[in-house]
Amino acid sequence: MTRLGGGSLVIATHNAGKLKEISALLAPYGVKCISAGSLGLPEPAETGTTFVQNALIKARAAAQASGLAALADDSGLSVDALDGRPGVYTADWAERQWFEGAPGRDWHMAMGKVEGMLQAIGPETDRTAAFHCVLAVAWPGGEHAVYEGKCAGSLTWPPRGALGFGYDPVFVPEGRQETFAEIAPEEKHAISHRADAFAKLVADQFGG
Ligand code: IMP
Repeated sequence: MTRLGGGSLVIATHNAGKLKEISALLAPYGVKCISAGSLGLPEPAETGTTFVQNALIKARAAAQASGLAALADDSGLSVDALDGRPGVYTADWAERQWFEGAPGRDWHMAMGKVEGMLQAIGPETDRTAAFHCVLAVAWPGGEHAVYEGKCAGSLTWPPRGALGFGYDPVFVPEGRQETFAEIAPEEKHAISHRADAFAKLVADQFGG
């Protein structure tokens, strides 16, 4: 198995926040993270229908274009009663249409859409859901590794809390009463789908 050494790793994201978070997580292992944006790499279209497919599309495109190992992530919310939706379309459900005013993402609208669909099914609808995070590592030679993280929970309504981002105000992780938006970031980072995926990556790539 090809493993990440202490060299450079391209992070296939143009999101500065993600780059910072991932760099900090991998710094203890001697990995130097470089963003795809700083190398001028184009962002491939996310045409996959699963988190794994989309993470691999991004990691492979960055590895091939840069000639270096590359890491990409793909994440989202899947709601059991909605057959896993919004899934890979989690961010798209927040996209405003041209007739709704300024373009951009409206998370309240996205949470309302999920809630509306659950209420349309009926008052006793199963409200279980999970956040997923897939990390894909690809090497220029074609090898790859995939790590799947999950945080199980349920959806509440109305939204609660002002911390976090995205769908955090309606997601209550298993075993807790608070939503992700009411839980301190350090605590959320310890139990999140991203933490789960990173723990698997670190154990496999840098473990004994
Ligand atoms: P992507 O992985 O950048 O494509 O983003 C997927 C989308 O999933 C984000 O835009 C968020 O809406 C949602 N998402 C992923 N992780 C979280 C989380 O920890 N809290 C809330 N929403 C999340």
